[in-house]
Amino acid sequence: MTDELKAHGLQFDNSFADQLEGFYVPWKAEKVDHPTLLHWNDTVAQELGWEGDLQPAVLASVFSGNQSIEGMKPIAQAYAGHQFGGFSPQLGDGRALLLGEVVNSNRERHDLALKGSGPTPFSRGGDGRAAIGPVLREYLIGEFMHAVRIPTTRALAAVSTGESVYRNGPLPGAVLTRVASSHLRVGTFEFFAARRQNDLLKKLTEYTIQRHCPNLEQSNHPELDLLEHVSRQQAQLIAKWMSVGFIHGVMNTDNMTISGETIDYGPCAFMENYRPNTVFSSIDTQGRYAYDQQPSIGLWNLSRFAECLIPLVNQSDQAAAISAATEVLEPFMDHYKDAWIREFGRKLGLSNAAVADQAMIQDWLHLLQTDQVDYTLAWRGLVDEWKSPSDALASLFSNHDKLTSWLQQWKTRLSQESVDPQTITDTLESANPLFIPRNHHVEHALESATNDNNLEPFENLLRVISAPFQDHEGMAELATPADAEFTACYKTFCGT
Ligand code: AMP
Ligand code: MG
Repeated sequence: MTDELKAHGLQFDNSFADQLEGFYVPWKAEKVDHPTLLHWNDTVAQELGWEGDLQPAVLASVFSGNQSIEGMKPIAQAYAGHQFGGFSPQLGDGRALLLGEVVNSNRERHDLALKGSGPTPFSRGGDGRAAIGPVLREYLIGEFMHAVRIPTTRALAAVSTGESVYRNGPLPGAVLTRVASSHLRVGTFEFFAARRQNDLLKKLTEYTIQRHCPNLEQSNHPELDLLEHVSRQQAQLIAKWMSVGFIHGVMNTDNMTISGETIDYGPCAFMENYRPNTVFSSIDTQGRYAYDQQPSIGLWNLSRFAECLIPLVNQSDQAAAISAATEVLEPFMDHYKDAWIREFGRKLGLSNAAVADQAMIQDWLHLLQTDQVDYTLAWRGLVDEWKSPSDALASLFSNHDKLTSWLQQWKTRLSQESVDPQTITDTLESANPLFIPRNHHVEHALESATNDNNLEPFENLLRVISAPFQDHEGMAELATPADAEFTACYKTFCGT
């Protein structure tokens, strides 16, 4: 095999590497023994402009990092981050490499990055590797998030390395190829802010604006406008997470993107029975990243972002800069609340939910909480209740009187919508997934792959959660909750 393959339709234009020298280290993936393709995401490949068909063995070779494609310029990016509230001035790509940026025929730019491709100067004693379980978890959750229209990074490929990685014992190693609209994070800014490198911060801010919000290029106060932009994106993103019961689990500032995409599916999990303070992560003993803490942690992270920008906002008057940035972040919770009403309103079949609907949404959630009802089944039950009422929804609840009176109120509200019933059905069906990546099914899929080299459970789960709003024949089991004991004991671990 030659060392560098043809680009196969991928147009590389590595703006980060070309424009931001000093923000990364040029690096190479460490070669692996026996790369084998576990999964290839044809849809994502097409979106990137991929052409032709390479043998799985060649794809495995490229997307494990053994071989490169014309135009790739692999680098390890520098970043810092607040982890569980404490600042780490140097994190960086310790087990990842940005291979390059691909620009497709619609002029959309995407980062192509490997995760698990071997140690880098940022590895801090880590092995730079990933095990197959976390790689497949990231693949699954990303595809689900995309399917429910939540901004996310996505997987292009998963490749097993044929080598073992050692965690509590040996595990099969794997490499994920991640596609993201960029890997700029709050932590990228923190890296340079902590070093008081204002020139580099300025350069980074300009680069970010040019890449993610070029409409701000002519702004008189670009840093404040960027802050506002990111704040709005995060408010919307977190409201969407809440709507599907997603718990990120490790909302450190290095895991918050500037693009507004969800990134890093490590200890993430989905809520089963509705309990707002749910935490699954084994290391989150204080519940810092619990389901209901996510909006306020979002704001906390944005405040760290704002701090990085202060020196650029006003160099001569720090107090004025702080007050201007504070003012920009002030409406975050209002933006979040607006997005929350919109998302949850759609789950109730309302195309244009308003503040007046908030109480009805909260009453419904209160019913779920009181009766510890499965979050996903309850919402999906509303779809069936609207289409053809039966006892199915009531069977999830113990307090039937309260449910009946709430349902009456809901139907009255729907009758006031100036749309036809089919539109309401469509709204309900497209806002309430039947399938989510349920924790016990995700674990089963990952265990089968890890212990038995059996990818069938992964493939089945991937298929249903990639089209989660529709029925899948013979797959009803994947829509059922875990038993209460499993959920009560369920713990997730940071995905290394
Ligand atoms: P994460 O938990 O994936 O967000 O990673 C946090 C930081 O730890 C990043 O700087 C990673 O590159 C680094 N890291 C995580 N796992 C490993 C590993 N196995 N080897 C080297 N660095 C790692
Ligand atoms: Mg991370």
